[in-house]
Amino acid sequence: MVWFVGAGPGAGDLITVRGQKLLREADVVIYAGSLVNPELLDNCKTDCEIHNSAYMTLEEVIQVMTEAEKRGKKTVRLHTGDPSIYGAIKEQMDWLDKEGIAYEVCPGVSAFSGAAAALKAEYTLPDVSQSVIITRMAGRTPVPEGQSVRDYASHGATMVLFLSTGLLAEMTGELIEGGYTADTPAAIVYKATWPEEEVFRCTVGTLEETAREHHITKTALIIVGNILDTEYRRSDLYHPDFSTGYRKAESEKS
Ligand code: SAH
Repeated sequence: MVWFVGAGPGAGDLITVRGQKLLREADVVIYAGSLVNPELLDNCKTDCEIHNSAYMTLEEVIQVMTEAEKRGKKTVRLHTGDPSIYGAIKEQMDWLDKEGIAYEVCPGVSAFSGAAAALKAEYTLPDVSQSVIITRMAGRTPVPEGQSVRDYASHGATMVLFLSTGLLAEMTGELIEGGYTADTPAAIVYKATWPEEEVFRCTVGTLEETAREHHITKTALIIVGNILDTEYRRSDLYHPDFSTGYRKAESEKS
């Protein structure tokens, strides 16, 4: 059996309780070494076989899983954040299907949630943004037609950009071409929830200069949108004049 487990965004105690239990029970762990906090491996049994996938190909990862399976071992594939976001898990699951190896997925706290916590931000504010667009700049991995940062910027919704810290000048260009103004609030969150976390608030126009000034080149998320600094309308859900399935509006009370 193979478990794909979300390690969380960085802090060792932001893995789920289920994920931690799976790590404690694992005979074989393959962890994404470039971003998973190595502290998490302290949860592993002393005789657990540990592999760092930063040095492995997909073929090698599958080989480790297949051999563990033959020996009746329990494998944890530990991915950063939540495995469903830029996790490259689909290709592993499809291969395991072909091999007839059973697997399950344990979700994790994604870096975009870690970044919101670091910013003390709410991505969805009434009258400002009711959507969060999770995307990336086209880099070595291209993005499909119609899914460019420029295309998404036209919605004016909150945007969280992964994997794009090396492309900030281009990102500013696309955001502005898409419809954001240069003074739209933005932020760079470096290593959200790690001890070395840093938060830099800036604007769409100053993203590149802010990163350069603080030597941020990787392991960061870019957050863009007016939710970072604006007037908004309070929620209906907690408004005294709003009835819900649990609570009657003040005006309807007799
Ligand atoms: N599955 C992961 C994302 C993997 S893609 C998740 O759900 O978070 C790797 C990219 O995620 C990095 O290039 C960086 O942009 C971002 N990232 C991962 N961890 C981060 C963290 N703690 N702080 C800021 N960005 C992070």
